[in-house]
Amino acid sequence: MPISEFALIQRFFTQQTVKNSSTRLSIGDDCALLSLPAGYELAVTTDTMVENVHFFAGTDPEQLGHKLLAVNLSDLASMGAKPVSVTLALTLPKVDETWLTAFAKGFLSLAERYSVDLIGGDTTSGPLTLTVQAMGLVPRGKALMRSSAKAGDFIYLTGSLGDAGLGLKISQDYHCADPEAALKRFHQPDPQIDAGLALIGIANACIDVSDGLAGDLGHILKQSNVGACLYWDALPLSDAVLNYINDTGDWSMPLTAGDDYELCFTVSPEKAAQLIINCRKIGVIESMSGLRLHKSGTTQLLNCKGYEHFS
Ligand code: ADP
Ligand code: MG
Repeated sequence: MPISEFALIQRFFTQQTVKNSSTRLSIGDDCALLSLPAGYELAVTTDTMVENVHFFAGTDPEQLGHKLLAVNLSDLASMGAKPVSVTLALTLPKVDETWLTAFAKGFLSLAERYSVDLIGGDTTSGPLTLTVQAMGLVPRGKALMRSSAKAGDFIYLTGSLGDAGLGLKISQDYHCADPEAALKRFHQPDPQIDAGLALIGIANACIDVSDGLAGDLGHILKQSNVGACLYWDALPLSDAVLNYINDTGDWSMPLTAGDDYELCFTVSPEKAAQLIINCRKIGVIESMSGLRLHKSGTTQLLNCKGYEHFS
């Protein structure tokens, strides 16, 4: 006999301990209750992953659980918020206990790693659709926004660019001599929580790179009413991505492919010395609108279009 909805929640998604003092009431009632410490505000975000849109049918459920939570925590990271709690809405075609065990393992081990409480959700039947709402704390008035980049700011990036895009190509049959690192970046991204926290009071603007650097930096430029120039030679590209570019000639992949989940942020030159996180200076904010790329001695205009679902 299939297990009941309540038994399913109890068995797979009820965590043993509550990790944050802001979680006053967790799973089991009609609502969870959160209490905010004085001087903080709540950052709230939600992201959905739909089978055959955001992930292939048959994707490893443990990796899926990890990635679903990671993409939401990445949004909190980009605001400089400390994650505290999440809700999880699951729409499942059927109750597959093996699948659920692996999915919950991927999801809850990342939650443990960042001390995030799973405080509620919803469980329904239908085409496989996974939604998380994530909540984090940020000192009042200090959140890192897209709208406050200033001409003259330097542009920085944590980590490297294009590895997740390469991972996607590999899972679509591109042959790579050393595929493991790129596949891991695609399937199990690391949300840059600590970097986001360290940027509070230092960065002017910040975004996480989910849809490709050109498109995501484009959001900062538009909302801050500025432009930018990136330096090709400064982009942090792994050997695997450089080999891919040599192999295919597709040099724009690291600028347009999504799923890297690194932070792209801007810092005024006066504050640049305060940066203590691992990151690379990749360009500069300019007053002239548009995104430019300086490559091989010439400057070209880049298209800022990221991935759009309805276009
Ligand atoms: P209601 O009918 O009031 O919406 P539910 O039966 O949907 O309540 O859920 C019972 C409790 O279990 C609630 O506290 C809800 O937040 C939680 N819950 C339901 N589904 C999930 C899930 N997938 N993960 C975590 N908590 C869940
Ligand atoms: Mg419900």
